[in-house]
Amino acid sequence: MLSLADVKQLPTRAEVDPDLTWDLTPIFENQAAFDQLFEQVSAQIAALSQQQGRLKAGPKELVSVIEAILTVIRPAEKLYVYASLKHDQDTSDAANQALSGRTQHLLTQLESQIAWFDPELLAVDADELNRWLVTEPKLKPYVHYIHTITDAREHVLSPAAEELLAKAGDALGASSNTFSVLNDADLEFPIVEDDDGQTVQLSQGVYDQLIQSTKPEVRKMAFKQLYSVYHQFRHTLAATLSGNVKTHNFSANVHHYQDARQAAMSSNHIDESVFDSLVTSVHEHLPLLHRYVGIRRQILNLPELHMYDLYTPIAGVPELSYTFEEAKEEALKALAVLGPDYISHVKEAFDSHWIDVVENKGKRSGAYSSGMYDTAPYILLNWQDNLESLFTLVHEMGHSMHSYYTTHNQPYQYGDYAIFVAEIASTTNETLLTDYLLKKYPDKATQAYILNHYLDGFKGTVYRQTQFAEFEHFIHQQDAAGQPLTADFLSEYYLKLNQTYYGDDVISDPEIADEWSRIPHFYYNYYVYQYATGFAAANTLASRILSGDEAKRNDYLNYLKSGSSDYPIEVMKRAGVDMTQVAYLDQAFAAFEKRLDQFSTLVNENH
Ligand SMILES: [Zn+2]
Repeated sequence: MLSLADVKQLPTRAEVDPDLTWDLTPIFENQAAFDQLFEQVSAQIAALSQQQGRLKAGPKELVSVIEAILTVIRPAEKLYVYASLKHDQDTSDAANQALSGRTQHLLTQLESQIAWFDPELLAVDADELNRWLVTEPKLKPYVHYIHTITDAREHVLSPAAEELLAKAGDALGASSNTFSVLNDADLEFPIVEDDDGQTVQLSQGVYDQLIQSTKPEVRKMAFKQLYSVYHQFRHTLAATLSGNVKTHNFSANVHHYQDARQAAMSSNHIDESVFDSLVTSVHEHLPLLHRYVGIRRQILNLPELHMYDLYTPIAGVPELSYTFEEAKEEALKALAVLGPDYISHVKEAFDSHWIDVVENKGKRSGAYSSGMYDTAPYILLNWQDNLESLFTLVHEMGHSMHSYYTTHNQPYQYGDYAIFVAEIASTTNETLLTDYLLKKYPDKATQAYILNHYLDGFKGTVYRQTQFAEFEHFIHQQDAAGQPLTADFLSEYYLKLNQTYYGDDVISDPEIADEWSRIPHFYYNYYVYQYATGFAAANTLASRILSGDEAKRNDYLNYLKSGSSDYPIEVMKRAGVDMTQVAYLDQAFAAFEKRLDQFSTLVNENH
């Protein structure tokens, strides 16, 4: 009989060592300080209506209206960061839920209060506006900012219509919120056995570890049990995903975009051919993935390779295990090629408690970097003592250093960056870590293990995220064409797509048909393709950094400092990679093939 005492349970938030939690007091000393700014911002938001109708008077008025608005958005972002970090550290905490809900509502109010700005700006005659931009020196810092708005000239509706849409923001986000609450707080997973035969309550974090187990029965059981829970809720989850897709399609449609993809990509000024080239290139290189999973089946010596056999290391038991303290040292060494300035800021992140390290009950799953212009770039982790967590640490540190350099080198209006360039900073760090580890451990067994990790990373980022991107695009198109997105419809297509990607050497288990139901990124609106393009671009950039050429390293650091001061594609061109061409994708697949060859040679020697 199983007693509760036998079950390894997650600690509650209060039980976590404060040394392993982030310190949010530099944002707000206490709740009273938060409330005080909250009141102030609420009043400022109400006063913004006085700005309405002013900007058409001339360039000086335009400057003053822009600055009045930014003066309110800036502290509102600070409130947002604090409330969302608090919320994510324990999503089951009622006070944090209330804080987050209250702040979300404030932001919706702010959005609706300034919804007139874009339409008013666009009501100014284009030639006249251009004259203002040339003649008024105080507008100079806002030229690119204004261009990003006027680029969408034909997609902005009347002030009244935009205000109405902004007011509906909360309601339109309901499907996405429902998914988050269900997935992060309400879903309860069964108790399973870990590698040591210990009973453990399944969670997203525990699953990520067990699916990498070298014991087939452990990973199989984790897989079956996890999906049994999602399967039970598949109709609800189809409804939340469908609701979210409908929101994207609705917004694209009323703003006169061809479709949701065009709407999402043009907000970053990125041509849809970047997405299509990726999908085409990945399909051309599917034989490499099939070859890799074939090697996997051969080495694991299994009669059949299942979906739950895709994450276990195939090059022996992992010798590489890191405590968080050890991982920090390794991260500093691996990133040293980025130069002393970069390293000094990584140390600052470690020493100033910007990182929330371990998993606790109710904590948001996964990992992220989050911060705004007036806060540190915080990092949420769910630490496990393995190589994967070390990679996650350098990944999120890549985001945080990008934020750090941007906020310290750009004015507020350019103090953020597009997601398209964001994933490049994080994956470049991962690529540098791979290179560092391959140099550090020359013995064949460890080489094979690290190569395996790289190949799995490439599979998970370039192939898998492109599979997600294809699925996402398909369901948006199907919904637009009037096809109901039922659980059966979604699962049927997902399974077929999965078979195409992994080929005949992998059994596409029936459970995998439900995978769409548990992927938070499908709620992000054409987000995932950027993981794949980012990984491929990082391959080129890491080669440039590792060449030792200081000019190339500076090109890279200049990209980190650019923020949103220019269009993403242009920023990347200056950093050394042209993402409108397929050359960078070809280079990435060539690197994958080369390491696949190395890996294949190594493991065949060992067998
Ligand atoms: Zn990332």
